[in-house]
Amino acid sequence: VTVSAALLLVGQELVEGRAVDTNGPWLARRLTELGVRVKGLRSLPDEETAIAAAIRQAAAEADQVVVSGGLGPTGDDLTRPALALAAGRPLAEDPRAAAVVVAGLARHGRSADAARRDQARVPEGAEVLDNPAGTAPGIRLAVGGATVWALPGVSRELRAMFDRHLVPSLATLAGPDAPATAGLWTAGVGEPDVAEVAEACAGEAGCQVGVYAHEGEVEARFAARGAGATERVADCLRAARTRLGEAVVDPAPLEAAVVAALRVRGWTLATAESMTGGLVARRVVSVEGASEVFAGGWVAYSEAFKSRELGVAADLLARVGAVSPEVAAAMAEGARARSGASVAVAVTGVAGPGPGRRPDGESIPAGTWWLGLARAGAPTETRRGQATLARVAAQHRAAVAALDLVRRSARR
Ligand code: ATP
Ligand code: MG
Repeated sequence: VTVSAALLLVGQELVEGRAVDTNGPWLARRLTELGVRVKGLRSLPDEETAIAAAIRQAAAEADQVVVSGGLGPTGDDLTRPALALAAGRPLAEDPRAAAVVVAGLARHGRSADAARRDQARVPEGAEVLDNPAGTAPGIRLAVGGATVWALPGVSRELRAMFDRHLVPSLATLAGPDAPATAGLWTAGVGEPDVAEVAEACAGEAGCQVGVYAHEGEVEARFAARGAGATERVADCLRAARTRLGEAVVDPAPLEAAVVAALRVRGWTLATAESMTGGLVARRVVSVEGASEVFAGGWVAYSEAFKSRELGVAADLLARVGAVSPEVAAAMAEGARARSGASVAVAVTGVAGPGPGRRPDGESIPAGTWWLGLARAGAPTETRRGQATLARVAAQHRAAVAALDLVRRSARR
């Protein structure tokens, strides 16, 4: 029998659009990996009756109900009374819950006040779940035929408690339904192209497939259940990797592949960024060990700065404009020469929303960029790219294109 779950995300900020729910997707993914079928995710306001009604409804529809948030000590934390209402049980002070609160506070050298003691009141008959990362005790309680798990909203606490309390129980219940899964990450190819390959491979191997676009990078995930599932997923992954070839980013994410490829080559990198304002450098330095391969970079935004700091000739800028293959090449060559790095990448473009204009008066559509890649002892390369997207999204696309150009050239 398949185990099912419904997720309730409690928080006024979520239903008012002031915060984005990240607990729901995280829980959904982990539950799916465990073999639990997630029936739905629902965000709820900080209202006791609304939360209680949603718990009852979810308990009628799924075997497991996971509630995130509203367990804290403040007046808008209403999950405990809502749970009591839904279960038809009174709240009562629980010594185990009190111990969790006191232990959590003691880790920060504090003692319990009245509001904190209120956190120790849980519905009668509930099981208290300890919180290794905070003060709010979790709660496990039967409502109707379902098991309801209430976890704190703070992601770090929720994740730690999910691993500690839900995984052992659900892995046993849903284990036989847990799918074998595998995935790959690509850059430099469009979602439809990745989907075509991934779907063909999944069809041949008898797997399910999902293809997901992430700002210019595309992920494909394969899953299979039942006899031979592990082998089918492995076959599928192997076939897709072969067919996608150089587009496969490994290790993922893209910046990790860039750092790995540079390290294999023994190359160092410098960046010269106009349109992306440092995004390329930022992504490279997010990778552990980036210091071994990243020399440094320039955010060279104005024409004067491009000339002064990177040596881009003023008459070149005047003749062809900053958004041109010539200037992308000159920026990359300047960055390489001045940094002493093995390779330098440059990005210059029109982030938008308005179009740019060349010195000859011709308009350049918003979202157009030129990349330059300079390398010692090799001709400088340039690439044009374009994305019809809002300003920041276009900047992200251009950064992906720049990172991918470095990755591919280091692999060659
Ligand atoms: P606390 O004891 O810290 O009050 P809590 O269980 O009461 O925990 P909330 O008050 O609902 O949880 O939320 C605490 C913090 O966690 C807030 O900063 C909130 O924005 C964040 N948070 C709550 N729910 C989510 C969610 N679904 N996704 C991401 N962050 C969340
Ligand atoms: Mg709170």
